[in-house]
Amino acid sequence: MSKKPILVWFRQDLRLSDNRALSAAVATGAPVMAVYVLDDVSPGAWRMGGASRWWLHQSLTSLSASLKTAGVRLLLRRGAAPDVIGTLAVDTGATAVYCTRSYEPWAAKVEVALKTKLSTHGSELKRFAGALLREPEELRTQAGDPFKVYTPFWRSLSSKGAPAVPLPAPTQITPVKSKIVSDDLAAWTLLPTKPDWAGGMREHWQPGEAGAQARLRRFLDAALKTYTEDRNRPDVEGTSRLSPHLHFGEISPHQCWHAAVAAAEQQRGADKGLETFCKEIVWREFAHQLLVHWPHLPEKPFRPEFAAFPWSKDKAALRAWQRGQTGYPIVDAGMRELWHTGYMHNRVRMIVASFLIKHLLIPWQEGEAWFWDTLVDADLANNAASWQWVAGSGADAAPYFRIFAPVTQGEKFDPEAVYVRRWVPEIARLPNSVIHAPWTAPDAILKTAGVVLGKTYPHPIVDHAAARQLALAGYEKVKAANATAG
Ligand code: FAD
Repeated sequence: MSKKPILVWFRQDLRLSDNRALSAAVATGAPVMAVYVLDDVSPGAWRMGGASRWWLHQSLTSLSASLKTAGVRLLLRRGAAPDVIGTLAVDTGATAVYCTRSYEPWAAKVEVALKTKLSTHGSELKRFAGALLREPEELRTQAGDPFKVYTPFWRSLSSKGAPAVPLPAPTQITPVKSKIVSDDLAAWTLLPTKPDWAGGMREHWQPGEAGAQARLRRFLDAALKTYTEDRNRPDVEGTSRLSPHLHFGEISPHQCWHAAVAAAEQQRGADKGLETFCKEIVWREFAHQLLVHWPHLPEKPFRPEFAAFPWSKDKAALRAWQRGQTGYPIVDAGMRELWHTGYMHNRVRMIVASFLIKHLLIPWQEGEAWFWDTLVDADLANNAASWQWVAGSGADAAPYFRIFAPVTQGEKFDPEAVYVRRWVPEIARLPNSVIHAPWTAPDAILKTAGVVLGKTYPHPIVDHAAARQLALAGYEKVKAANATAG
């Protein structure tokens, strides 16, 4: 009698190497059924956005090809995951479902529902770690609480020693014999057609496991050494751009960590870059443990007193921000990079987020939602934690009164305006001395550069000094709410 199958449920672990769930299933010697479920039901408001769907299509194409080479077909199904996986497991007589743990609050509920469903049919759910270096429950303060501050979290994580060594990809996987029906990926219509806005994404990205490994290699060879200095510069490619690959699990943080350590051993003077890079990877861990312990992080301010902030409902201002038409070049450059490529440099994310919250006084949740739809690396934990960090309402957040001045930020981090010229070409002919603040340019210079403010490029949507005063006044209300609560 042939062995009963194991169902490997792929989620945010779209890779063959260092995939503990897959390797464990293969090691049993049982036939393997590989399944991905497009679940637009369970996440509620956090169903995947447009840019993520584009990425997912490519990533599944790549995963499917790799699995085929190893001997199995990737089955695609659509619907609420506990129902779809549960029914498939029962119908095929699978003894168990193996998966990698996910940390979104809705995903955790899905795991519980599936476990219950399987257990009533004599099957089981086996959940494996692998998306994070350490499980959130492993790291606690001395008092036994979850961490709210990054630095002690980092110290605690790094004191545990090197993360687990990555596993190799299985080369041969035994398939199930029976023919099981799969959806057609194209029928999921994950790709935009009318209009096809993904041209810039195709230019910039290679989704999938091979693309992730190539990106890591390129970063380690070209930028690890200078990462500490260059990571804040949007005008150079100084960061890894691994975020979408990490989000979809095309690469594990363990693989990034160990490859970076090995690269630094080969390169003189890369120790500092290595430490900074590992610390950034650990910001991802920190955000995930925050989300696990504070599941309302994506919706509600971590510091409840921020609910008292007098937010604006100015839809026109929100739209100007989304379209990159605020009249502040570094903000507009960032928003246009995002729209075109599905990505924005971290420094610029901080600038545009601060501008939305503190210059336009628009709730951070609006920005979070826009990023959710437009980022290829949209990630519930990282996005929510970062927006709250900028808003000042988060755990270990930047103080609210630290308001980024967009002109100074542009001059400091894009000194030759290479980034601004790339994304805001209509002001490209302005000299460096005024390009970050076109409204300060004398008429003659504007004319020579072909810039007509209010016509070819907007006037600034708000005045920095006045906006700053309004934001600080709003913050007084938060302080008052805190004092009342205290
Ligand atoms: P690198 O500098 O090469 O860093 C390596 C990896 O570390 C990243 O790929 C990422 O996984 C992790 N990382 C780096 N910085 C952070 C951070 N601050 N928080 C958590 N993880 C981090 N990142 C996302 O992955 N998804 C998001 O939806 C997201 N939304 C953001 C929203 C705002 C307002 C801000 C300010 C930041 C956001 N970030 C988000 C964090 C950060 O901007 C990106 O992770 C980073 O820019 C990705 O580029 P990279 O891969 O080249 O980063």
